[in-house]
Amino acid sequence: MFKKNFVIKVLLATLFFSPAVHAQTPKKIKTIIVDAGHGGKDFGAHGGYEGGLNSYEKNITLDISNKLVAELRKQLPDVKIVPTRTTDIYQSPPEKADIANENKGDLFVCIHADAVNLQTGRRQIGSHHETRYHVKYTGKGRKKKKISTAYTVTVPTYEYYKIGSKRSGTSIWLFAAHKTSEKLKAVMNNEDLQIESGSDSVYNAIDFDTPEGRIRAKIYADRYQKKSIKLATMVDEEVDKTDRAALGLNQRQKGIWVLQATNMPAILIETGFITNYEDERYLNSAKGQQELAECITSAIKRYKDDIDHTAATAATLQKIPETSLAVEKYAERSKNILKRIDLQQANFKVDLYDDGDIDGDIVSVFYNGKAVLSNKSLTEKPVSFNLVADPNKTENELLIYAENEGNIPPNTALMIVTEGNTRTEVRITSDAKKNGVVLFTKK
Ligand SMILES: [Zn+2]
Repeated sequence: MFKKNFVIKVLLATLFFSPAVHAQTPKKIKTIIVDAGHGGKDFGAHGGYEGGLNSYEKNITLDISNKLVAELRKQLPDVKIVPTRTTDIYQSPPEKADIANENKGDLFVCIHADAVNLQTGRRQIGSHHETRYHVKYTGKGRKKKKISTAYTVTVPTYEYYKIGSKRSGTSIWLFAAHKTSEKLKAVMNNEDLQIESGSDSVYNAIDFDTPEGRIRAKIYADRYQKKSIKLATMVDEEVDKTDRAALGLNQRQKGIWVLQATNMPAILIETGFITNYEDERYLNSAKGQQELAECITSAIKRYKDDIDHTAATAATLQKIPETSLAVEKYAERSKNILKRIDLQQANFKVDLYDDGDIDGDIVSVFYNGKAVLSNKSLTEKPVSFNLVADPNKTENELLIYAENEGNIPPNTALMIVTEGNTRTEVRITSDAKKNGVVLFTKK
């Protein structure tokens, strides 16, 4: 459904060919998706250990999710809260992701409960008699004979049972940063990314078939990762204020499908261990469920304040006028050599993007001591310039001077160096003490 629309947009964009891709300012939080993990025929984890409540994850996640939805609606009345399910129904992970993407969520919060593989214990519950035999042989060759003598022994009778786990507490999961292909697909299928500035949406379409389009999509995916970490950290901090253990942030190697396939910052909360005696009781109690709902709500409120503030200040920062630049000022800072690039040819092109959050990072750029850019705001749209290697120099120095650190320090940029068909990516960080430096050599 998205696909068709997307292809048409790209075609139109090619037809009209407009280079005017506007910078995207950070969006305020308007819609939050709450996903109760599992459901219906998918029971999730089971607390089947001795002394346990025999509860199933799908019911716990639904109860917590319903309370979280109610709490969010109460504390954030202006935000649209969309639960993936409010009853015991089955949804495949792609269905859950579709609900999030179709509702154009700004945040995706998945509620789950953890479990560990349970160990089996045994205990003696009595004893019983068993008949055994002593075996003897007499004679040799064809006269060999087997003689069995029965005797009785008393042996213990055991009962086997599952032992509840010791591990308890709340942990938060993020999609693995190195496996963003599903995230990229979700980012690329989002029409919203193409239409954030005004009515002429057709002109703003990103062509993802181009290297630039792919880089922009990657930047969006990275941006979600940074925001996901921010929210996850806040949830962890809120849980830490309660009596229960906050186990911190994790990234799963194999990836978590729903987190990767959603076009928005996304976290998965393993609220507690269903296989642990205290945790299972906590997770099944109205009091525990409410406490978790309130912790998560507090974290989301803090996150929303932070993002909304960033959105407001980034809009202001982009209006800062360019000023003339004193070359000497960069000499006060030390140089951090980030990469050496061996050039095959003398001419090369440099594209600079804001890396991660579009948070108002502003830079000045010097090449062999001369100003190339002055007070430039970095966005997901590249700032491009062409440079030539000086034949009289063994090394050509490109220096990035951070005019500010944006709202999320340090100042981070993604640099793409293109010469002929060769492209090199460099991540540039610079701050109030260090300039980021890339050296070019031409043999
Ligand atoms: Zn689960």
